[in-house]
Amino acid sequence: MDDSRDVGIIGAGIVGLAHAWAAARRGHRVTVFERRQTAAGASVRNFGMVWPIGQPAGELRTIALRSRQAWLDLARDAGLWVNPCGSIHLANRADEWAVLEEFAAEAPALGYDCTLLTHNEVLQRSPAANPEGLLGGLFSASELCVNPRDAVRALPEWLAGRFGVRFAFGTTIVDIGSGGVRSADGRRWDCHRTLVCAGADFETLFPQVFAASGLQRCKLQMLKTARQPASWTLGPHLASGLTLRHYANFEVCPSLALLKQRIAAETPELDRFGIHVMASQNDQGAVILGDSHEYGRAIEPFDKAEIDDLILRELRRLIRLPDWTIAERWHGVYAKHRDQPLFEAEPLPEVRICTGTGGAGMTMAFGLAERCWELWP
Ligand SMILES: Cc1cc2nc3c(=O)[nH]c(=O)nc-3n(C[C@H](O)[C@H](O)[C@H](O)COP(=O)(O)OP(=O)(O)OC[C@H]3O[C@@H](n4cnc5c(N)ncnc54)[C@H](O)[C@@H]3O)c2cc1C
Repeated sequence: MDDSRDVGIIGAGIVGLAHAWAAARRGHRVTVFERRQTAAGASVRNFGMVWPIGQPAGELRTIALRSRQAWLDLARDAGLWVNPCGSIHLANRADEWAVLEEFAAEAPALGYDCTLLTHNEVLQRSPAANPEGLLGGLFSASELCVNPRDAVRALPEWLAGRFGVRFAFGTTIVDIGSGGVRSADGRRWDCHRTLVCAGADFETLFPQVFAASGLQRCKLQMLKTARQPASWTLGPHLASGLTLRHYANFEVCPSLALLKQRIAAETPELDRFGIHVMASQNDQGAVILGDSHEYGRAIEPFDKAEIDDLILRELRRLIRLPDWTIAERWHGVYAKHRDQPLFEAEPLPEVRICTGTGGAGMTMAFGLAERCWELWP
């Protein structure tokens, strides 16, 4: 094969894997470099929510819907577990309901597949929704649930077997030039093109680009329950009224500003830690709970019990679980741009950086990868 087809990808998180798949399908000879023995970054620490509803109408939502289709294709072709569960945003306060009503009114024209649900209709769809104080909800059909840990660990083997993608695990790239990369053990690897999908850690490879990028690091705390009883299912992903202030799609709603003001005045502790609560259920029956958002260049390694308590306080108001035993706690870190939905740069000829997917990498990675290789054939 012609050497110009050699592609090196730094990082075996979901963004690197998605770009590897898209490149290999187009006939490139792909090598993925991952410094760890198995990827352990943001891509294995998330809810597993594929969340197109959170993207604003237009190009970003189109990218999210392409990714959604890719996950469904991977369920069929690579045997990944994917649950087309949809989502419900629950409203417990009049201002939350006002935002949902406004969004539902705009949704058909903007291309969203959403339905407003009454109190009883929410309870028919989700046995977990707490009926106390529940006004209703907004159901969206487009959300999927995936198991991030299993998917990110299974995809390398599938990509290797199906497309001949090579994986160099335990290989830290320390230098990238035009024409190749060098790993920490001194080996040189020829790559005609290099894609840097190293999450926030591309800082170590291109410190000046990172410094000028507008990217910030964000730390999120998460919890997972024990396996719930086999006869019980969460149903759609659930999100609280707090979540309405987090995703860009709701910015078209005139009542959103008042909702944000009320939350800031009533519960400043939630704003202080960027808490908005959501729940998803994986194929093993455990419910993933989160999350918080603390921004800063230096990430504190120690998790705050106060944050976990606030997340659980808000979730206990929102949902009822048969078993609230917390089996695992962890935090994850992602890179997010101050005002852009992602960060792309070309620091050298034939070298691209793709990161800054923030809280939407599971939702966007495959669509972004398709777009990348369409524009860089
Ligand atoms: C707690 C949490 C919850 C989230 N929930 C969701 C959700 O439900 N839905 C959603 O869409 N998104 C969610 N996200 C966001 C999503 O997880 C991220 O946007 C996405 O995983 C980023 O993927 P990535 O491949 O860019 O980064 P990563 O997964 O961090 O992967 C980068 C990889 O690069 C490797 N690497 C770095 N430097 C080098 C080097 N020099 N040499 C070799 N390898 C290197 C790292 O080891 C790492 O494996 C969440 C994120 C977090 C943290």
